[in-house]
Amino acid sequence: MLTESTLDPATAVYDATVLAGEPWIHEIRAGQTLRILDLEGNQAADTLFYNAHDYEDRYSAQDTIRDQGNIYLTTGSRLQSLKGHTLLTITADTCGRHDTLGGACATESNMVRYALETRHMHACRQSFVKAIAGWGRGLDKRDIGHNINFFMNVPVTAEGRLTFEDGVSAPGKYVEMRAEMDVLALISNCPQLNNPCNAYNPTPIRVSIWD
Ligand SMILES: [Zn+2]
Repeated sequence: MLTESTLDPATAVYDATVLAGEPWIHEIRAGQTLRILDLEGNQAADTLFYNAHDYEDRYSAQDTIRDQGNIYLTTGSRLQSLKGHTLLTITADTCGRHDTLGGACATESNMVRYALETRHMHACRQSFVKAIAGWGRGLDKRDIGHNINFFMNVPVTAEGRLTFEDGVSAPGKYVEMRAEMDVLALISNCPQLNNPCNAYNPTPIRVSIWD
């Protein structure tokens, strides 16, 4: 569902550009709003959320899908945690559809899906591990669960197959969500070069936070 934001970029309390292939980790307090902006279009932002006070209580794709009765995320989607909390609610979305089925890329899945020669290519899972190692507050590799792929187009066919398709996003499209509790956000700005999730050209995203 396409919904514009009423927030003024000039009043954001935090702004950062996350370069292609880089991770970003940041706490968002209850009541704050996070915007992820697709600066150049068709960029996948692989994202994990945690209860900021209990990292074992993290984003759950299956609880979110069951709760809303829909496999795509957009305005109104309540992002659920493993322990039954609503972490965030999507409040604005100019892209219209976000994936939470396709998973984050890893060197292992790249080798299985594409070619053994992709082994040395950077992948989201490495960005996640790099970011939590730097964060250094008890998050571990095993805390990397299923994720959201903002702006990524992973339609399900009539036969129930998942396909990675050319993006539905475009330069300047954004998604915005209100934190319903204190959350930790972890983004890998996807470096993938083997499927069209980034239009084969990873580009920067912008993250902004409002009080
Ligand atoms: Zn990726």
